[in-house]
Amino acid sequence: MNLDDLSRDLETLAEETASALAGASDVAAVEALELDVLGKKGRLTGVLRGIGALPADDRPKVGAIANRVRATIEAAVAERRTILGSAELDARLRAETIDVTMPGRPIRRGSLHPSIESMAEIARIFAQFGFVTYETPEIETDEYNFQDLNIPQDHPARDLWDTLYVDIPGRLLRTHTSPGQIHVMRTVKPPIRAILPGRCFRYEAIDASHGTEFFQVEGLMIDEGTTLGDLRGLLDEFAHAMFGAGKKTRFRPGYYPFTEPSVAFDVECLVCGGPGCPACGRSGWMTILGAGMVHPVVLRNCGLDPERYQGFAFGMGPERIAMLRHRINDIRLFLENDLRFLGQFR
Ligand SMILES: [Zn+2]
Repeated sequence: MNLDDLSRDLETLAEETASALAGASDVAAVEALELDVLGKKGRLTGVLRGIGALPADDRPKVGAIANRVRATIEAAVAERRTILGSAELDARLRAETIDVTMPGRPIRRGSLHPSIESMAEIARIFAQFGFVTYETPEIETDEYNFQDLNIPQDHPARDLWDTLYVDIPGRLLRTHTSPGQIHVMRTVKPPIRAILPGRCFRYEAIDASHGTEFFQVEGLMIDEGTTLGDLRGLLDEFAHAMFGAGKKTRFRPGYYPFTEPSVAFDVECLVCGGPGCPACGRSGWMTILGAGMVHPVVLRNCGLDPERYQGFAFGMGPERIAMLRHRINDIRLFLENDLRFLGQFR
């Protein structure tokens, strides 16, 4: 081994490394090459092992060439690493691109169920007259649902409600919201102005106007000197707010065991406006609720003196109200959860 051989080996290593670098296709290949040539046990070290066999004068010359070759290779490795690294980054960025101009998936907007929306509207109208909304139980006792409302055991009026009983003795699913009146009269001191919305249950044959599960909204006012005239005035205001100003209304005699006298409250037909049509059974009127003066027996059952306190109660079906407002012809639609139906009430 002499100076010329070593110098030539070093130049050869530099050239081979340069051409291998040009062929490297990714950063990992560049790093493997760097280790192979410049590493502790790499090819450059291997070439320089021959330096010990040279005359002492030649050693610095070879050292100078070796340093130049090492620097050249290091610079070439760094350059290639930079080029390949940025190409890889570009490719990754392109692959992970999110096109922000693409329209997103639409978020479907929900809406209140028409029963709930009608109950909220009823409560909102009566709130303007000072009526407060109360929530009362869906599972009731026979006393609250019937007896305290002046419907004793074996009273023929029980035939009006086909009752669903639960597996607890003496308990049933309330057939109307009227037991809520008892709860309120026993816990709130008069004057009382209460709205009692809620779910009711009856064992009914299901048809276009009857379901086994439905909502009711009950109203109750108890005060000194309350009259049927107050009831009429209040219901007129309600009908005008709900169905339009100036709509004609009327009372017809009705019957409920817990009110005396009892009335049905009609509003002029919302379809024909009076002359009569199929929607109103050619009568020109539509019944929207039942009402009456609270029966003295019911007042006494709640610890109120009928000589001092009078009051009225009224009850309506929010589905019926919604059917009239939105011209819906089948009550079963309210419980079928069909979005084509429900989506129409935004
Ligand atoms: Zn009509």
